[in-house]
Amino acid sequence: MIAPRDDLALMAGYHSPQVDVVVRLNTNEAPEPPPEGFAAALAAEIAQVAWHRYPDRGYAELREAVAAHHDVAPGQVFVANGSNEVLQTLTLAYGGAGRTVAVFEPTYALHSHIARITGTAVTVGERTEGLALDLAEVRRVVADARPAITYLCSPNNPTGMVEEEATVREVLDLVAAVDGLLVVDEAYGQFASWSALELVGDDVPLVVTRTYSKTWSMAAARLGYLVGPRLLVEQLDQVVLPYHLDAVKQVAGRLALRFDDAMRTRVASLVEERGRLVARLLDLPVEVWPSEANFVLFRPTVRAGGDVWKQLLERSVLVRDCSSWPRLDGCLRVTIGTPAEDDAFLDALEEVLT
Ligand SMILES: *Cc1c(COP(=O)(O)O)cnc(C)c1O
Repeated sequence: MIAPRDDLALMAGYHSPQVDVVVRLNTNEAPEPPPEGFAAALAAEIAQVAWHRYPDRGYAELREAVAAHHDVAPGQVFVANGSNEVLQTLTLAYGGAGRTVAVFEPTYALHSHIARITGTAVTVGERTEGLALDLAEVRRVVADARPAITYLCSPNNPTGMVEEEATVREVLDLVAAVDGLLVVDEAYGQFASWSALELVGDDVPLVVTRTYSKTWSMAAARLGYLVGPRLLVEQLDQVVLPYHLDAVKQVAGRLALRFDDAMRTRVASLVEERGRLVARLLDLPVEVWPSEANFVLFRPTVRAGGDVWKQLLERSVLVRDCSSWPRLDGCLRVTIGTPAEDDAFLDALEEVLT
């Protein structure tokens, strides 16, 4: 039988278990479906789709809507099937054999996973003991490896910690000095106090990626995008498969942005709910990281994280088990859900830990 490429053979895939539970707080989705009115507007437009024709290859209306949302030019926007496909397209264009991607662990596993699948070398920098970015380490890694692509994730998954503007500017200078590209993954950007979007420009080697999967309550749609230099967007348009965005998705992405006000209200209430959840967590025997995202990383101090994860599952509460991941010994990550879901999680955790 045919075998996969040698450099893929031993790689473990990236999977979150999709098990049937009452309280699902493991993949950082929004706790509610899109706002009232979205589904009806989508259905009305789907009725008009010319199914026998290819969709608009350049997805002009969606591109314009995303550009207007961020007050940038349509030519600075690239949209794909989830921000993971945005990252894959970037790596296909700027990574590959003989090139290197730099990541600072612990961070989002897909950054290095996609690099490896595309035959790109991965160089791993370490964070501090408290899991913060270490600029001295970034300087060392960028100078040693001269990476084509350097990743930051802000807020970082799985810690929830945000990189400050001064930090991102400094990393950008380092990356520019080696003719590389800085990718700031802002999948949770709307929950944070600062965004690197304001640093994007046509002469700046920076892209900021966003997704519809979290804030926009649209994980099922598989839509994500980046904002970056026009020339880079033109190059990505040449690398991505033709007609990669189907007609329905183009409509869905455009219509979702009409509900911007509702989204902002939801983000604000999730941030408030995060405060409530963290306050209750701090009363329990756990260590908690300061999150500016819609999830919280914590480490039980009286029981092994993996055991706590199982005992929560027995109570039909599913969180993310990071306890066996390198550098995250004993840690679990919980998504902010509805107040009722969060209470179910907190009550179960309290029962398990006390
Ligand atoms: C969830 C997540 C994504 C989203 O990927 P999609 O393909 O858009 O669903 C991207 N980056 C990070 C850091 C994430 O946590």
